[in-house]
Amino acid sequence: MRTVKETVREAVPEAARPEPAPGAERYPALDFANSSLALPGGHFVDLLGTPDAASRWLVERGLAPADAGLREVCAAQLRSLREQIRALIASRVEGRPAPPSALAAVNEALTRAPAASLLHWDPARGLYRAASHPTTQVVDHALAVLAADAADLLTGPDAERLTACGSTPCTRFLLRHGRRHWCSTRCGDRARAARAYARRSRTEAD
Ligand SMILES: [Zn+2]
Repeated sequence: MRTVKETVREAVPEAARPEPAPGAERYPALDFANSSLALPGGHFVDLLGTPDAASRWLVERGLAPADAGLREVCAAQLRSLREQIRALIASRVEGRPAPPSALAAVNEALTRAPAASLLHWDPARGLYRAASHPTTQVVDHALAVLAADAADLLTGPDAERLTACGSTPCTRFLLRHGRRHWCSTRCGDRARAARAYARRSRTEAD
């Protein structure tokens, strides 16, 4: 018999998870911005949609301990920061002024908790670095790391290469390499197929 947990995992099917967009392996903030997927056929998959899914997303990226046990309020905070970071990336890509509310949200995340892992000492391990671990701070730390990474990305040399995936209905961002502006081979294939279809329809209409 399936547990509820397994059903939830399968509700975010592997097939719905495209490969990371170019740049997302280097910038967790870009991966974060892309964690809500718009799929063909009007389907949406939110990799931070439930506390379990959000925990898994953080654990897989080393941003939370395996037993983090996020609550819905934490998942909601993550989704909220994601939307603000997406708004900042979109404004950068489109050459518009940065939305003040998005700047405020990123700065709030940056200053509420240290993004750096702090230095600790105990008799068994000696000196070591680790994030502070009271449950409430796990999420604050993750938010701070993601906000700091977004600020680095948006002000660093790679900001020039930020672009939105050109394949409808995809809403992911990527770092452009040459002329490619698809986030994944699947989006590229779909865009090419759409172009071919449009060409065919035009020819038939003539
Ligand atoms: Zn795409």
